[in-house]
Amino acid sequence: MEQFDLVVIGGGPAGLAAACAAFDSGVRSILILERDRELGGILNQCIHNGFGLHTFGQELTGPEYAARYIRQVRERGIAYRLNTMVLDISREKVVTAISRDRGLSEIAAKAVILAMGCRERPRGALNIPGFRPAGIYTAGTAQRLVNVEGLLPGREVVILGSGDIGLIMARRMTLEGAKVKLVAELMPYSGGLKRNIVQCLEDFGIPLKLSHTVVDIAGKERVTGVTIARVDGRGTPIPGTEEHIPCDTLLLSCGLIPENELSRSMGLELDPATNGPRVNQRLETEIPGVFAAGNVLHVHDLVDFVSQEAAAAGRGAARFLALGEDTSCQIPIEASGGIRYTVPASVSPREMEEQLTIRFRVGSVMNNRAVAVYLDDCQVYRRKRPVMAPGEMEQVVLPRDIFRAHGDAKRIRILTEEA
Ligand SMILES: Cc1cc2nc3c(=O)[nH]c(=O)nc-3n(C[C@H](O)[C@H](O)[C@H](O)COP(=O)(O)OP(=O)(O)OC[C@H]3O[C@@H](n4cnc5c(N)ncnc54)[C@H](O)[C@@H]3O)c2cc1C
Repeated sequence: MEQFDLVVIGGGPAGLAAACAAFDSGVRSILILERDRELGGILNQCIHNGFGLHTFGQELTGPEYAARYIRQVRERGIAYRLNTMVLDISREKVVTAISRDRGLSEIAAKAVILAMGCRERPRGALNIPGFRPAGIYTAGTAQRLVNVEGLLPGREVVILGSGDIGLIMARRMTLEGAKVKLVAELMPYSGGLKRNIVQCLEDFGIPLKLSHTVVDIAGKERVTGVTIARVDGRGTPIPGTEEHIPCDTLLLSCGLIPENELSRSMGLELDPATNGPRVNQRLETEIPGVFAAGNVLHVHDLVDFVSQEAAAAGRGAARFLALGEDTSCQIPIEASGGIRYTVPASVSPREMEEQLTIRFRVGSVMNNRAVAVYLDDCQVYRRKRPVMAPGEMEQVVLPRDIFRAHGDAKRIRILTEEA
């Protein structure tokens, strides 16, 4: 059986950044396994700009951003295999993969980084009544058809869900000559970034109908129209508010699900708030030597934060390979006041890097709040946030010195409170 110190599952932005950071921390025996025909992950189909402002101080397209990390992987001589699908990872870190040229292969790893990204919620998971004609796509599938395959999936489009991919596809389809009639969103707020609402909808005069959903799809061979309706506070359609919108295409942008089948089959418990594994400050899961980063861990809005997070996982894996299991005492991070989860979920002050980044999302739109962190009963961080929304990931950065100054703290709490 082949052996590598570190095997990275997935060659998207998370896998690439993790591998580079592990290399820079001294690991030399690294293998990236990627099921697609090229490295770069989903960014290869994201040809719009807006990537890399935090990392490179430049506005890059998705492929340009990915290319910079692919170059770094090649410059370091890190091994990677394309068209190679990982089928299984055992708790002992034996990775089973399949590819056309090698067939079924087993690789023994000392450490593994999970970086499999996420997938979109399909129609089957949304329970939309109506016929099942052609013309219904997830927004990401439409993005691939337009940007990679050069095909236009339709001419008159309704988009359900205002996540970032749906917003970006509203603009993309418009630029390609299609008429985007509206974007319907079940919630009373958009699931996407504010900048995408402005740049992708408002700039093109595309209406955003909040608190609306699709209640019927018409058309036998091909979609001929959809019926939308207003919903009440519980998301139930309100009778009498139905409106028929003729169209030939329905795009679904109703959420992303971390791709965690491998994690689940290796016995990792998933956090119901993120659908990803729970990790500590070095992004290590409950199985020592197994790390997770990027969208497989929790869905990100910006790839820059994926790369930052993945680099921490790479350094964590290098530390594991050099020093072994982290046996220091872990303190769980308690989230409340509308904060749904935190990544990491627990911290070992003794094992922290120079600073700790805690990322989280809130469960509903909040105005005039402050985010505060307490070690035991002592407030160590507070920042006013005029607006927080579920569609925008939040973060708190805490220097290690704060933890050193409260060396015997038993509780870490993060919460929102009156500003
Ligand atoms: C359709 C879509 C469009 C998006 N558009 C944007 C956008 O415009 N802007 C933005 O900032 N973010 C966008 N995102 C979010 C984007 O996913 C992240 O910013 C970033 O790409 C996440 O990086 P990642 O490495 O975690 O995941 P990914 O980029 O998804 O990479 C994961 C990689 O793992 C591989 N993989 C998965 N399972 C296996 C397996 N079993 N074996 C081998 N390889 C495997 C996949 O093929 C993929 O290459 C989009 C996401 C999706 C799904």
